[in-house]
Amino acid sequence: MQSAIISYMEPKVSLYIHIPFCKTRCFYCDFNSFAGKDHLISDYVSALCNEITRQEPYENDAVHSVYFGGGTPSRLAPSETGRVMAAVQNCFRLMPDAEITFEMNPCDVTADYAAALAASGINRVSLGMQSAIPEELKRMNRRHTPEQTVLAVETLQNAGIQNISLDLIYGYPGQTLENWLLSLQAAAGLDAKHISLYALSVEDGSALRRQLETGKLTLPDEELTVAMYDLAAEFLAEKGFQHYEISNWASEEIYESQHNKQYWFVNPYYGFGAGAHGWIDHRRIRNTGGIEDYIREVNTSDFDKRFPAAAEITPQSRRVEMQDVMMLGLRMLLEGITEDRFRSRFGIGIEDVFRREIKHLERKELIHRGQDGRFLLNPDKVMVANQAFIEFVD
Ligand code: SF4
Repeated sequence: MQSAIISYMEPKVSLYIHIPFCKTRCFYCDFNSFAGKDHLISDYVSALCNEITRQEPYENDAVHSVYFGGGTPSRLAPSETGRVMAAVQNCFRLMPDAEITFEMNPCDVTADYAAALAASGINRVSLGMQSAIPEELKRMNRRHTPEQTVLAVETLQNAGIQNISLDLIYGYPGQTLENWLLSLQAAAGLDAKHISLYALSVEDGSALRRQLETGKLTLPDEELTVAMYDLAAEFLAEKGFQHYEISNWASEEIYESQHNKQYWFVNPYYGFGAGAHGWIDHRRIRNTGGIEDYIREVNTSDFDKRFPAAAEITPQSRRVEMQDVMMLGLRMLLEGITEDRFRSRFGIGIEDVFRREIKHLERKELIHRGQDGRFLLNPDKVMVANQAFIEFVD
């Protein structure tokens, strides 16, 4: 089923559901995820359903998108995913054409699992392909092989899930431009509808950080990383993919990630689960990160407490919301930010608020005005987009 395209003018809600379990840890990972805690999955799913159920009295808006992220959502048994989906359907008005995404490790995809996902309403899968080169996957400590990614895509398609997104990482130690092209060719050859490319970011506390510090591995230089991005942009354009966001390409507009667009449009979303973030009623909500803490806090709080596992609830000022709209809007390379949208949301024009910033960015040739006056990031400035974003930070 194809999903409705979310627009800036329809501030409907989205749901992010965090599944923090992993079988093993990838060396580059610094996400809120844990290996060796699968014995907590059943209790965690109960707590998730409990947290979701608390929104029922508050929520009348239609839900456009649901995203199961991780961690590794495919650590859940299909029946557990079904329980969470049932809680969502009972408590929210899920639109019939909502995009419902499930992140998976390719080696977790079986015919039975794919069929069960489709039966529970999942209509989009994001596969952590990361690379098509076996040695690179080993260097990342990924569990799967390139062959398993190919098989996973076929299996999902056979189960009726056609909307498949593939993630690839570039700038990893030992990666060459030649091997990067092989990974891109493999991804494009799989009939994926969407491809996300992530520049490696070395996080404190990751195993990769330690490997680099001990000299076991070295990072490619910045020039090579930029060449990888440029090669990807050129190659995917040749293959007919639209580069609609800095790190994201879609085979057609309908396959752009509706859930991520919710973030880039700064539309409201709930974050359920350990460490999840939400943005509701002009407040940022961050849940406690530990699995045990999350389960305990949800289970022991009063049932009328709307955000039972919140570690932090921060009201967001109108000024910060405007800044977010500019920064995140510029990420969307085709859509950008229009005067109409900004004005209908805030009751004031973009240049009434950001005249100095816009002038500065135009002078530095970081942004331009499209034919209809919308503001867009200049295509040749994507790699230095941060220079544009910081203009909107006080
Ligand atoms: S599967 Fe994802 S969340 Fe889990 S360790 Fe690897 S990168 Fe991190």
